[in-house]
Amino acid sequence: MTSPADLVVIGGGLIGSALAWGAARAGADCLLLDEGDIAHRASRGNFGLVWLQGKGIDHPDYMHWSIRAGRRWPELARILGEETGIDVGWRGGGLHFCCSEAEREQRRALIARTRAAGGDIRIELLDRDALRQLVPGIGPEVAGASLSNLDGEVSPLFTLRALQQGFRAHGGRLLVNFTASRIGHDPRRGFVVQDAARREVLGRRLVIAAGLGANDLARQIGLEPRLMPERGQIVVTDRVAPFLHHPASAIRQTREGTVLLGSTHEDAGFSTGTDVDAISRLCRIGTRLFPALRNARLVRAWGALRIMSPDGLPIYDEASDFPGGFLVTCHSGVTLASLHALELGPALAQGHLGPAPQSLRSNRVGLHPA
Ligand SMILES: Cc1cc2nc3c(=O)[nH]c(=O)nc-3n(C[C@H](O)[C@H](O)[C@H](O)COP(=O)(O)OP(=O)(O)OC[C@H]3O[C@@H](n4cnc5c(N)ncnc54)[C@H](O)[C@@H]3O)c2cc1C
Repeated sequence: MTSPADLVVIGGGLIGSALAWGAARAGADCLLLDEGDIAHRASRGNFGLVWLQGKGIDHPDYMHWSIRAGRRWPELARILGEETGIDVGWRGGGLHFCCSEAEREQRRALIARTRAAGGDIRIELLDRDALRQLVPGIGPEVAGASLSNLDGEVSPLFTLRALQQGFRAHGGRLLVNFTASRIGHDPRRGFVVQDAARREVLGRRLVIAAGLGANDLARQIGLEPRLMPERGQIVVTDRVAPFLHHPASAIRQTREGTVLLGSTHEDAGFSTGTDVDAISRLCRIGTRLFPALRNARLVRAWGALRIMSPDGLPIYDEASDFPGGFLVTCHSGVTLASLHALELGPALAQGHLGPAPQSLRSNRVGLHPA
């Protein structure tokens, strides 16, 4: 490739694809690189929630950023549907079930803290009777739930497909089986990205959105995100008659009828395996919430790796020694996809981080623990 693209994005997961879609839709000549993995990457193995309740409770900028993402999700779903014909399955009205009065009180405190931090989101606390009106099949231990209209769910796989299809429809170029290994920069050609076979692509601007592959790449432009894997296991049942018309934080019924239970939070290195203990724990939670699930058949379980920064917050940064070289990573890439697509992608194509909060740069206090 001889002439540089306006923007090269490394990583075709949910983050890179959302950014690339937004950049291409804004008119940029954008090239999206992906190593074309067969592993369970986060974008293909996640739970599919657009989740805001409690998010960023100790970091108001992140809270507001997430809430803004929740607000913009219906718009993204609509645009992707119009552009590609793919219904990504956005559905709002997220429930967090409480299995005791003590848990309900904790929820009440969380709602109060969200309000105190100026969180522009309405979260209602439901008692058991009110919850039963919405979701009749709950088990005897369920004491209530918190409900927010902005929390929702989507199909992560349809979302990924729609973003990539829309990206190509906007003139974006997707290059798969390209594992970026070296990043250089020269004033004439801009960023030069090479793979192990020394094939190279050029970009005036560059975004590293390579999930757990970002550490090595970011270091080459002077950034040190120190991302770590965190395994989540999820189980899925066979199709059952519709009983849950709301997304919920530990359980969701897909529109096809299957029920997802999850997900665990484990330090398992880079293993994407599953284990019987975790699977039975998830099943116990499911049957406690909905006893009728005892009759459902478990058909599959999988593990996938979250991408965690040391303090758990997203990183939106530009390399100070390589202006135009950016890093974007977060552990809630489904939730934030609407902002990545509608706001951040177009901004990056213009060479800046747009509305991404300053406090989420990588030089923040606490990012690098002693
Ligand atoms: C079990 C589980 C449940 C989750 N549930 C939710 C949820 O309910 N809601 C939510 O918002 N988030 C959830 N997440 C998190 C969400 O899935 C991630 O935040 C999101 O998928 C991250 O996307 P990504 O593009 O950064 O990473 P990835 O999906 O890992 O994609 C990175 C991409 O970069 C490519 N790549 C890597 N290195 C290179 C290289 N050198 N050259 C070229 N390409 C490269 C890879 O092939 C890959 O396609 C969950 C995650 C897990 C694991």
